[in-house]
Amino acid sequence: MDNPFDLSGKVALVTGANTGIGQAIAVALAAAGADVACAGRTPAADTAAQIAALGRSSALIAADLSSIEPVDRVVQETHDKLGGLDILVNNAGIIRRADSVDFTEADWDAVVDTNLKSVFFLCQAAGRHMIAQGAGKIINIASMLTFQGGIRVPSYTASKSGIGGLTKLLANEWSAKGVNVNAIAPGYIATNNTAALQADESRNRQIMERIPAGRWGKPSDLGGAAVFLASGASDYVDGHIMAVDGGWLAR
Ligand code: NDP
Repeated sequence: MDNPFDLSGKVALVTGANTGIGQAIAVALAAAGADVACAGRTPAADTAAQIAALGRSSALIAADLSSIEPVDRVVQETHDKLGGLDILVNNAGIIRRADSVDFTEADWDAVVDTNLKSVFFLCQAAGRHMIAQGAGKIINIASMLTFQGGIRVPSYTASKSGIGGLTKLLANEWSAKGVNVNAIAPGYIATNNTAALQADESRNRQIMERIPAGRWGKPSDLGGAAVFLASGASDYVDGHIMAVDGGWLAR
């Protein structure tokens, strides 16, 4: 029987792949056989080295996704450098923390523009290409705050719950055209993004006590879900938001 998780011959595009969750997903997709374009502000040289060590090709694409200006070019460059585009992982994201009564328009726009507006328009640019070829996989990186409210992160919560709705809408529109759109909702994952929470002893203890698995997630914990949603094994999975959270939502 063929391996249903095999990504040989596929080309993936991962945003924000220089570090954290994006890096781990890019490497996991390469380990499953894909060539991977890494798009972001900071060149993903270390990620490219890990992909090369797996015998796969990569391309580094410079793109600041705080605006939608680069999205068409990013898709075109992926195609030009790696010969196609089969898998898109919208991972790049930021967070701003402040009480809602004090929250600024600048912090609203920065987060929503990067985490939601660019995600939609990158889905659109990649989706046009995938619809034309009759096949594609889109994975949006959501959050526990796709399901929950959170505190002091209004623009982040709005962006991540927006990703949940957008994922379902695009699945409705594109499923019959051969394009699967799904999301992964990570729980508490130890990355630069969460360094301050990890360093805060009492907050860290509260978080750990609340996670049934009893530990923070590692970026590599996201790899299996990403490979599954990128592969033929998930061809009948659409509009799904898969929590990878050590059981956080189960509690
Ligand atoms: P990191 O801060 O480690 O990585 C974020 C990535 O996004 C970096 O590669 C960063 O690039 C990139 N990025 C940010 N802004 C832009 C931009 N304007 N243009 C291009 N790239 C950009 O965070 P994580 O790995 O933790 O987060 C990855 C995703 O997972 C995010 O969407 C986040 O919201 C989500 N997530 C994370 C959780 C966690 O617990 N860690 C939990 C739930 C969701 P650069 O290094 O150049 O800034």
